[in-house]
Amino acid sequence: MAQANLHIDLDAVVSNWRALDAQSGAATRTAAVVKADSYGLGAGRVAPALYQAGARDFFVALAEEGARLRPHLGEDARIFILGGHMAGDAGFLRDARLIPMLNSAEQAQRHLQAIPESPVGVQLDTGMNRLGMEAAEWQATAPQLMERGIELVMSHLACSDEPEHEMNAKQLAEFKRMTDGMGLNRSLAATGGILLGPDYHFDVTRPGIGLYGGRPFEEARHVATLSLPVIQTRVVQPGETVGYGNTWTAERETKIATLSAGYADGIHRVLSNITALYAGDTACPLRGRVSMDLLTVDVTDLDTVPDTLDLLGPHQGVDTLADLAGTIGYEILTSLGPRYARNYAEPTG
Ligand SMILES: *Cc1c(COP(=O)(O)O)cnc(C)c1O
Repeated sequence: MAQANLHIDLDAVVSNWRALDAQSGAATRTAAVVKADSYGLGAGRVAPALYQAGARDFFVALAEEGARLRPHLGEDARIFILGGHMAGDAGFLRDARLIPMLNSAEQAQRHLQAIPESPVGVQLDTGMNRLGMEAAEWQATAPQLMERGIELVMSHLACSDEPEHEMNAKQLAEFKRMTDGMGLNRSLAATGGILLGPDYHFDVTRPGIGLYGGRPFEEARHVATLSLPVIQTRVVQPGETVGYGNTWTAERETKIATLSAGYADGIHRVLSNITALYAGDTACPLRGRVSMDLLTVDVTDLDTVPDTLDLLGPHQGVDTLADLAGTIGYEILTSLGPRYARNYAEPTG
């Protein structure tokens, strides 16, 4: 089979969730952010594993994602929709019992007109200027919403992966200014915010990337292993070139393995000639350009060429690959395409 294998360690995901949960006090509920199909790893498997482990609050971006998630979770799971209530969402929200994080007075009116009996949350803007109500808008809208009950009020930090950044304290102060004394359940912290400490935890935390083994949760357990099958090998003589554009020339007799996956599978083309794949502990350099469906790898130094080489694994995690590609672990994960066979190791305890 030429289909590459993406192995996802659900025990590691659960253990990362527990470790992040342990960072906050017993009164703080630790949610799980499973938007974009659990950052590409498969919400249909990740979310139930976290539910089993005790997670009851889940966040996705779109109502459609929430509707797809609902059958995988127990009745008592809350599914929050970060995009709020968009036109056309009412049916999904009502039928799948989703909780839109209302981002504007306009969304609030849309909700109250269409499905006033359905629960709501509110997202506030505390300085990121991406989603959420501004202070004046919130002040004007809050009374009407509070009459019906607000499940959760939240905001999002712009710089929480930089603990020293002054923006964190600024947003914390603004969030308090907008919500103190209202008796509402509150949420401010994603993975980075959890690590900023108890001032940022409030009632619910919302980790995403930390569950999946990425920075800034440095102690995270490794989650995703990507193994690519070798289709064929050949010996290339000094002076011969490999791949499109002849960007790599052999300086010695070189054994090249051609592997089955490429930029169509989320292996960024910018990684051409700069990353390595692993055979066990041995790094094998990627030679030449990344093609749509194929990679060419230098396996000269291996005694035997294995059936597969790993692009992601314990020796090279999402952040290492992201650094090489000039991006972030989030983008590496969410780029992993639909062609991989996703295999899961179930939690052990
Ligand atoms: C994506 C997202 C999260 C999760 O962030 P991580 O950095 O992955 O932990 C939390 N809250 C909001 C609003 C988000 O958009």
